[in-house]
Formats: sequence, structure tokens, C-alpha cells
Amino acid sequence: MNLILMGLPGAGKGTQAEKINAEYGIPHISTGDMFRLAIKEGTDLGKKAKEYMDQGELVPDEVTIGIVRERLNKDDCKNGFLLDGFPRTIAQADALEEILTEMNDELDKVVHVDVPEEQLVERLSGRRVCPTCGTTYHVLYNPPEKEGICDKDGTELIQREDDKPETVKNRLSVNMEQQKPLLDYYQEKGYLVTVNGDQEIDEVFRGIQAKID
Ligand code: ADP
Ligand code: ADP
Repeated sequence: MNLILMGLPGAGKGTQAEKINAEYGIPHISTGDMFRLAIKEGTDLGKKAKEYMDQGELVPDEVTIGIVRERLNKDDCKNGFLLDGFPRTIAQADALEEILTEMNDELDKVVHVDVPEEQLVERLSGRRVCPTCGTTYHVLYNPPEKEGICDKDGTELIQREDDKPETVKNRLSVNMEQQKPLLDYYQEKGYLVTVNGDQEIDEVFRGIQAKID
């Protein structure tokens, strides 16, 4: 199954991707996670991406398309994949089509996790992540068993640099402007399904399953 998860920052894409991965066994490919890993490792890609991410701006298309192309060609994507955070521009969507055609493959569904804007600032400001395994928590809505500590590996949780109030607003407005044409693009092609993301995490997951099974 070849899926794309769409939704604004904070909509719950990463949270749902973890559940989809556990249930369907397809790799979760998050461009944001890939960039953050590159930054942590201090690679050239990381240095390039950091300039943009720190400002809440998009990383240039040619850089982003390159890493996705490489990733989708890995063996573990043969039985499907789940893209999260990509495509974010029409150029990226066109490139994805080309990549899939080269692979003799095609998309199954584009799942839009829809959450009202007012909720997003609250979700983002309470988000905490494990810098070791990438698991996402929320201080109120999805807290770890022990405050500030990852349930899975005991690492101290951190707040992402771009979840701090200074960049959240800009990031949301940049994303909102850019998401609309992509939703239209996939609607026209008949791939788009929308799920109400303003419900409990497990309810959202059931909503997704109802649309993809
Ligand atoms: P969120 O989880 O809040 O939706 P992501 O983790 O997907 O955010 O992305 C964090 C940042 O990484 C973005 O603000 C952007 O700078 C960069 N980024 C991620 N995916 C893309 C993409 N497809 N195109 C350009 N930039 C991207
Ligand atoms: P995205 O990947 O779309 O940016 P995340 O999955 O990281 O979003 O979720 C953003 C924040 O909101 C996290 O702190 C997460 O724990 C929390 N969250 C995710 N889904 C829900 C939900 N259905 N209800 C309440 N909080 C949620």
C-alpha cells in the first residue's frame, strides 16, 4: 500500500504514521525526520536543511526530492510506503509521480488528517519528542508514563526548535498556503480522502483505517 499523509504541522501525522506502520508494516518516511537526523549527524544535507528549518521555511525542492527519490528506491519500500511531510509543493508532487512511474508503481490513497487551526498551536507547543527514537508525546494529550522521559528507551524528551512560539506561527501560515493546492491536486486525481483529526488518537486511527482498508 502506497500512502501519503497530509495535514498541517501538529495535525497528528507522525502519531498516526507510527500506528499505520505497526498495523500494516510499511515504512514511515518523514522528510522532517530525515532532515533532523541529517542535522544531528552534521552532514552536508543537514547543514543545508538547517538554515531553512530554523526559520520555519521549506527546504528547497531539489534537495528534498533528491532524498525522497533515494529513500523510495530502497528495498523496504517494495511492498509499500507511507510518506509524511512530502510532497509539500506541486513540484514535489509532480516529481513523486515521475519517481513512481520509474518504479512501475502508483499511489493508493492520500489521507488528509484535518484539524482546525486553533488546535494546532496548542498541539505544537505541547509536543515533546524523543531525540533517540523519534517517538512523539504531548504534555497533556499523550504524556509519557514518567514526565519528560521516553517510555521506549528512557531518553530525556526535548522540544523541537521549530515548535517554539517564535517559529510556530510562521510555520503554520507557510504550510497552510502551500497545502491547499496540493489537496486540490490529489482531489482532482481521485486519491484524496479526508479524516477528522480532531478526535482522540485511536479514533483518528480508526477513521483512517475505514478509508484505506
Ligand atoms: P511537522 O511535523 O511539524 O509537520 P516536519 O517535521 O514535517 O513538520 O517538517 C519540519 C521542517 O522540515 C519543515 O518546516 C521544513 O523546513 C522541512 N521539511 C520537511 N519536509 C519538507 C518538504 N517536503 N519540503 C520542504 N521542506 C520540508
Ligand atoms: P505532525 O506529525 O502532523 O506534526 P504529531 O503527530 O507530531 O503531528 O502531533 C503533534 C502533537 O499533537 C504531538 O504532541 C502529539 O502527541 C499530539 N497529538 C497527535 N494526535 C493527537 C490527537 N488526536 N489529539 C490530541 N493530541 C494529539
